[in-house]
Amino acid sequence: MSDGEREGRHEESHGGALGTRLNWLRAGVLGANDGVVSTAGLVVGVAGASADRGTLLTAGLAGLLAGSMSMAAGEYVSVNTQRDAEKAALAVERRELREDPEAELDELTRLLAERGLSHDVAREAAEQLTARDALRAHADVELGIDPDALTNPWHAAWASFLSFTAGALLPLLAIVLPPASARLAVTVCSVLAALVLTGWASARLGGAPPGRAVVRNVAGGAAAMAITYAVGALLGAAGA
Ligand SMILES: [Zn+2]
Repeated sequence: MSDGEREGRHEESHGGALGTRLNWLRAGVLGANDGVVSTAGLVVGVAGASADRGTLLTAGLAGLLAGSMSMAAGEYVSVNTQRDAEKAALAVERRELREDPEAELDELTRLLAERGLSHDVAREAAEQLTARDALRAHADVELGIDPDALTNPWHAAWASFLSFTAGALLPLLAIVLPPASARLAVTVCSVLAALVLTGWASARLGGAPPGRAVVRNVAGGAAAMAITYAVGALLGAAGA
């Protein structure tokens, strides 16, 4: 089996090498998208209440750090939990293979037969896979896990932190760099343009048609900015 075929098959079944790379890329795009939307909503809301550049910078920077750290912590916890679950499942599998190899061979045969092999071919395949690396065969066919490719929680945490930060920098810079009269227009336009890009990229990476994803993404971001701006303007007018 060539690498391409192998990866294609894995991607269909449970996200192997290519699937994993696409998932990482997609997670990065979604993290950046989160950073754009939440920071844009924050700075536009503050801009509705205050014209002070220092206030905007403080609010935007605090939002960037709070968001990126909370994303990283959440990712760290969730990947660790998943990893623990995968390790526990592999430990169970290892024990079953040691204690009842015959039943495990039958189980592997049945699972392969369910994938469309005749019983005899499935039996032969199960025997060969078991002879080569029984745990790997069960991890793959039964659990959909590659024991050597468990996600590193620190990598996942850093990836979230960096992708959120990259996205958050756009509205932050767009609100503090231009002159006061242009800052809202520059921020709204650059944010909506970025949301076209992230909506398109995440749909393409997820294998979905991009049109509707772009519209939804842009509409969501526009609504977030409109609402926070309205709230900021109301509070600002009320002298809060
Ligand atoms: Zn098994």
